[in-house]
Amino acid sequence: MIGAPTHISDRIKVSFEFFPPKTRENEGALWHTIERLSALQPDFVSVTYGAGGSTQDRTLATLRRLAQRTDLAVAGHLTCVGKTRAEVDEVARDYAAAGIARIVALRGDPPVQDGRYQPHPDGYRDAADLVAGLMRIEDFDISVAAYPEGHPESASLEADLDNLKRKLDAGARRAITQFFFEPETYLRFMDRARAAGITAPIVPGILPVTNFKTVQEFARRCGASIPGWLARTFEGLDEDPATRELIAATVAVDLCLKLRAQGVTDFHIYTLNRAELTLAICHMLGLRSGAARRRHRCQGEETASQTA
Ligand code: FAD
Repeated sequence: MIGAPTHISDRIKVSFEFFPPKTRENEGALWHTIERLSALQPDFVSVTYGAGGSTQDRTLATLRRLAQRTDLAVAGHLTCVGKTRAEVDEVARDYAAAGIARIVALRGDPPVQDGRYQPHPDGYRDAADLVAGLMRIEDFDISVAAYPEGHPESASLEADLDNLKRKLDAGARRAITQFFFEPETYLRFMDRARAAGITAPIVPGILPVTNFKTVQEFARRCGASIPGWLARTFEGLDEDPATRELIAATVAVDLCLKLRAQGVTDFHIYTLNRAELTLAICHMLGLRSGAARRRHRCQGEETASQTA
């Protein structure tokens, strides 16, 4: 059940994830999105790094532009799969030179035809090793990935938590989760993480589902489960993107409000480079643009002075 927020919350912290655009048209759309979402004063925004560095140049170009043209805190994703340490370090140094002090450090996945992940003979072994290497370059603010339902390659949920702990012990400051659709999935994971002695923030990753078929395929690969109710919700809507949009917002808002009711205050939103869904989610969490916040504060102050 969706309930409207009763007050404007200054406690909610959001971060937004974008992917580097491929075409000029997509680039225009992304900058329009960034302009609209900046007004919500996110804690930081991040830009993904395509499998094995396939978007390296576009990621760096997007990061540079964000650093030059906005006052947002910016994080660059960086993977180590298929690269030597020296190659990965060079990208990290490029980030630093562009003024990017935050990194989302990831192992990455090999191309499907290459089968199971094998570290490059001269490369970082895994994400924990990558974090340690990055910390030797600079005191980056590093985030890492966490998997509430376990990474598909992990031997067990406990082994996966041990791996998360290694990444945090190596210097990462927070984890961001893979997407999930049931609040209990995240809440149970948090209980297990805290019981395992992990104290760092673990921010839930929120994915608004606009294309159910794509998400189904993605979930199959990353080990996230799709609840039956979600599949039923999108039944018969393959040719109806407008209705899918409305439902995507409703489902994501519902998840966030349930998490909020359990005391969760930080959210990382996979924006899909689009503003509306993220704006809807943030609005329902009680976030307002900078201008609206100021207006709200002034009104609050006026009311206070009238009643004094
Ligand atoms: P790791 O933490 O290294 O772990 C991967 C698996 O291997 C886990 O099961 C772990 O338990 C196991 N493992 C690790 N080390 C060892 C060891 N020494 N011995 C035994 N088992 C071990 N991918 C991209 O290509 N680009 C992106 O921009 C990107 N952004 C992402 C952002 C977020 C928030 C998330 C959640 C994922 C992102 N990914 C991205 C996907 C990520 O690259 C994949 O999920 C990848 O399969 C694992 O990366 P990792 O950093 O979690 O790996």
